[in-house]
Amino acid sequence: MKDLKELKAKMLDAHPDKGGSHEAFISARAAYVKEKAHIQMLRERGLIGDLPDDPRPCYYCGNKFLLSNLTYLGDGRFYACKSCLNKPRTKDPHRRN
Ligand SMILES: [Zn+2]
Repeated sequence: MKDLKELKAKMLDAHPDKGGSHEAFISARAAYVKEKAHIQMLRERGLIGDLPDDPRPCYYCGNKFLLSNLTYLGDGRFYACKSCLNKPRTKDPHRRN
């Protein structure tokens, strides 16, 4: 995934007021808008948090962890922390009762 902040900075730098050309600004703006829409789509599907490392609750214990400390369980929105992954589970998001 591209860095949205970087794309935004490029867009601002390419602005005619900052010495850029109209064409450069339009193309930088298109790249920014496209990436922003892409991130929005991932966010709506629950594939990423609101921030790159947004704390999310563990599905099992409910404690909040940074995404880098959670394991994605593959069902669009379920995450498990490391200690819960190693414990016998009391509930399984894939089990349909
Ligand atoms: Zn947990």
